[in-house]
Amino acid sequence: MTKESSVPASPKKNIPMLDVGRGNQPLRDAFLDAVAKVIDSGRFLHGPEVGELECAVAGVCGTKHAIGCASGSDALLLALMALDVQPGDEVIVPSFTFFATASAVARLGAEPVFVDIDPETFNIDPQSVADSITSRTRAIIPVHLFGQCASMDTLQEIASKHRLPIIEDAAQAIGAAWRGRPAGSMGLVGCLSFYPTKNLGGMGDGGMMVCHDDEFAARLRLLAAHGMQPRYHHKLLGINSRLDTLQAAVLTVKLAHLDAYSEARQKNADRYTELFRNAQLHETIQLPHRDPRGLHVWNQYGIRVPYGRRDALKQHLAGMGIGSEIYYPVPLHMQECFADLGYSLGCLPNTESAAREILHLPVYPELTEQEQDAVVEGIESFYMTGAFRRAA
Ligand SMILES: *Cc1c(COP(=O)(O)O)cnc(C)c1O
Repeated sequence: MTKESSVPASPKKNIPMLDVGRGNQPLRDAFLDAVAKVIDSGRFLHGPEVGELECAVAGVCGTKHAIGCASGSDALLLALMALDVQPGDEVIVPSFTFFATASAVARLGAEPVFVDIDPETFNIDPQSVADSITSRTRAIIPVHLFGQCASMDTLQEIASKHRLPIIEDAAQAIGAAWRGRPAGSMGLVGCLSFYPTKNLGGMGDGGMMVCHDDEFAARLRLLAAHGMQPRYHHKLLGINSRLDTLQAAVLTVKLAHLDAYSEARQKNADRYTELFRNAQLHETIQLPHRDPRGLHVWNQYGIRVPYGRRDALKQHLAGMGIGSEIYYPVPLHMQECFADLGYSLGCLPNTESAAREILHLPVYPELTEQEQDAVVEGIESFYMTGAFRRAA
């Protein structure tokens, strides 16, 4: 007998939270061709690939304009700059989101006003928005969190009643929709990110702003290019924020597969739900809620793990070689850098309980059924073997 044969019957799995290589590998030749073309042209900035991608993304989002920029964070910053948001202004944002949604506001010296979420969808709670509007409110930034659109009809009603613009943070939601309207097309401007973990992920940083309005689009484009027009004449105090040609070339290759990626994510999400139900786990953990009014593109599949057992479950899965992640463990109103805004624990109860209970599972398009089965079995074993009791 060799040593290897005495290894326990259930070897450690290797199921990462995300494996970008699996999506990229089949497109390797197409990427190399696209990149070679850019190298040969020497047009590393302002190459024709950037404009081509902008047109294609405007098509996906159903907007007249799309303007490339360096990141999703910059897209948010530029949108706020284009609205001339200033110190003394307030901008309403959810606390349960990635940092950039709020830091863009604070970077301009304005105040992010944190509001609570709907406990089922994790998206911004419209009532909480309505309650937070003051004479200093300049904009509302709903985030289409985890790939599902925020409750846009209600938000648009509130916004138009108060004559406030909506900036959609659609960084996690390209391809999603609300009552048939694409994410990014419903507010004054939509902000997209091509960070590698997003549904349309590049090979580095990248972002885009989408909008209908000609004048606003021109202002965004100007602000992203040092406010310069014509050359060396600066109309506005802009920044340098560009989507480079190589990134645009790579993203154009991937954009052709975006629908297939979204469908694969939807299939994986549906299958998780089915597997959890079959395992009778759907009442032990809380499965993600899909609002029937929207088209969810599942940038993340997040379950709620009640009774303080989330971290122990995450550890249990890690011990089996199964990746999971927590988006987001610390709500923004509790971040150290926002301490002077005066929020305390208990201010936003739905946000705080989501941060304590949420756990995200691998849901990327190339995840295999076998791997998915193993993830569900891993969670089952946590509850069946009594590991959850030791954790409580
Ligand atoms: C990723 C993300 C951003 C920022 O995008 P970057 O391209 O990483 O700067 C902003 N908001 C949300 C909700 C995000 O998930």
